[in-house]
Amino acid sequence: MKALVVEDSLTTMTLVSHLLESMGITPIKARDGSEGIALYEKEQPDLILLDIVLPGIDGYEVARRIRAMEKAGEWTPIIFLTGRTKDEDLEQGIAAGGDDYVLKPVSEVVLSAKVRAMRRIVQMRYSLLVLTRKLDAANRELTRLSAVDGLTGIANRRLFDESLGREWRRCLRVREPLSLLLCDVDSFKQYNDAYGHQAGDSCLKTVAGLLRTKLRRPADMVARYGGEEFAAVLPDTGADGAELVAENMRTAVEALSIPHDASAAGVVTISIGVATLVPRLAEGAPALIMAADWALYEAKRLGRNRVHAADAALLTAVPAK
Ligand code: GH3
Ligand code: MG
Ligand code: MG
Ligand code: MG
Repeated sequence: MKALVVEDSLTTMTLVSHLLESMGITPIKARDGSEGIALYEKEQPDLILLDIVLPGIDGYEVARRIRAMEKAGEWTPIIFLTGRTKDEDLEQGIAAGGDDYVLKPVSEVVLSAKVRAMRRIVQMRYSLLVLTRKLDAANRELTRLSAVDGLTGIANRRLFDESLGREWRRCLRVREPLSLLLCDVDSFKQYNDAYGHQAGDSCLKTVAGLLRTKLRRPADMVARYGGEEFAAVLPDTGADGAELVAENMRTAVEALSIPHDASAAGVVTISIGVATLVPRLAEGAPALIMAADWALYEAKRLGRNRVHAADAALLTAVPAK
């Protein structure tokens, strides 16, 4: 711990310095206000003992300038040393940013008691700061966890809903198309039945990780939509681009060649429904989900392991309220 002492009287300076040293505190000595402010900036002391009557700027002004220099959340206790005993002097010292007051001639007992009290506050404040930092970190981690799917590690449904809503509103403003892919693992119930639930989980993890690698732009996102269903949000992406991404995803999953005897291809495959809209209504995002869902249903009906895009007639019919 170090304390800045701003004092022009050599006698008081010597007495105060000795007292601080005997308490294990390093004194930093300044003989006038300007030097005090400069040393405050350079040394960042834990405590300031400040004479009021000084050559040049007085102690009140020094206190005001130091308070003005402190960054948000910073605080260094200031104890004034003074021969002034009037109530108004005390009031002025506190108003200038001081925290306490010791009368001259300085009593060692009083000063050391006040320094100890201030040190206690400084330490308590420091513990609080450490605790606050830990809490902030824990909160950030909680926020992150609340957005991540526990099994696959990709975004969860909550983050998906949030992202889709946000991108929908953004695309509405900039009049750009927004695409949504809904992917569903084919005959996954039979996969679980044949290979067990754990193999099923591990398959979902692999597929999720792979889908994520097929996104091209920073704003693209893929989430676990539900059980064995995944959803990808592709902002500023037209129907052709979205179908291309979907087809890349489909072929990549097939190429994983995860054995699945009950599926038509003999390996794990996915079906994908694609919907693209240029948003026209602020509350229209559910229409995009409905259209992609319908397209997915069609992909399943037409034989699975395929990409199907919602047709234009459906897309224009749904959102136009
Ligand atoms: P379809 O080709 O029509 O999609 O057939 P499907 O069997 O995949 O469809 P259905 O919706 O009937 O079954 C989905 C299955 O996915 C049901 C459930 O056993 C499985 N499933 C859902 N979530 C999980 C999960 O977290 N882990 C595992 N292992 N299986 C899951
Ligand atoms: Mg003086
Ligand atoms: Mg399903
Ligand atoms: Mg399925």
